[in-house]
Amino acid sequence: MLRPTLRRLIKRCVVRASNTDMAQKFSSHLNRNKIALLAYHGICRDDERFKSWTLLPESLFRSHMLFAKNNFDCLSISKAVSCERTNNAKPGLVITFDDGYANNFHIALPILMELEIPAIIYITTQNVLENNLFWSDIIWMAAKYTSQKTINLKSVSPCLGIYSLDGVLSHWYTEVLRLLEDIKRTPPNKRKDIAKEVGIKVGMDEIFWLDGQRHKENIFSPLTPKQISKLASCPLITLGAHSHCHNLLDQLSIVEAQSSIQRSKEILETMTGNSIEHFSYPNGNFNKRLQRLVREAGFISSVTYKPGFFHPGDNLYTVNRFGVGSNCTLDLLKALLTGVFQIKNIAHG
Ligand SMILES: [Zn+2]
Repeated sequence: MLRPTLRRLIKRCVVRASNTDMAQKFSSHLNRNKIALLAYHGICRDDERFKSWTLLPESLFRSHMLFAKNNFDCLSISKAVSCERTNNAKPGLVITFDDGYANNFHIALPILMELEIPAIIYITTQNVLENNLFWSDIIWMAAKYTSQKTINLKSVSPCLGIYSLDGVLSHWYTEVLRLLEDIKRTPPNKRKDIAKEVGIKVGMDEIFWLDGQRHKENIFSPLTPKQISKLASCPLITLGAHSHCHNLLDQLSIVEAQSSIQRSKEILETMTGNSIEHFSYPNGNFNKRLQRLVREAGFISSVTYKPGFFHPGDNLYTVNRFGVGSNCTLDLLKALLTGVFQIKNIAHG
């Protein structure tokens, strides 16, 4: 087992080596017949007060998009999975967003339009219909909101422990991610209540996570039906489904999973008048049964969080994606897209 400092040093050397012009040209040639899919969630203003792994500052996102525009054949998801490519001189690239945050409309869309980059937004329909926040975002807000250096959550659930929110930002992220993973071990229908209890325990005002029209609009707010209609008429944007409930589908019964998959498709088709053909598994969790349910619901493709490129001929219901979080600097993204470097994908359920 490598010591963390040695691991960090090796990572830094690999990132630096893969950022040289020669390495970039070589990997571009080597990967020219492959397609990379990048998985983003939310994009925030640079001075946003709340932080989460899933929120990228807009200046960082813009630098990613400029790099993508100049070095990749940026494709819509439909072109990517049907392998309709006209430019094989560069590797293909698809920009994807999970969950359906309003910030995709306010902040990401103007950048994508300016650079003429296509993208797909996978939407969780229950959050849109009920104007609800994800339980995981309530946790990110609570962790940022609290001034407590240590939070003891053993009384909230036996699955939870003590979390230290003191120290450098990387430690803070590690501890919040550990808390999120612990909550994922509790029953799906209990997670939001647990997240609210955590918020109350750290002294946060309930106004931040109230359901319906009563919640205070913030960076984690979902898209509205009106924004979804506008996105549906934008030629650069494809809308996809991300289930109705956003529970981890492999933890549900077959009937519940089937209903969540189908409902999200039906609701989005009614809302937009368009056919919804692409799906994203919440948290990237999939198995053979879910692949079948997604195919039977009428989707053409489904994406995961398995890191790696998509190759023509791959299974369309287990499409790989590289997860991109707020720790993904431009240098790290360049290294990631050479295909020789991997970072752990982190999703949220
Ligand atoms: Zn999600």
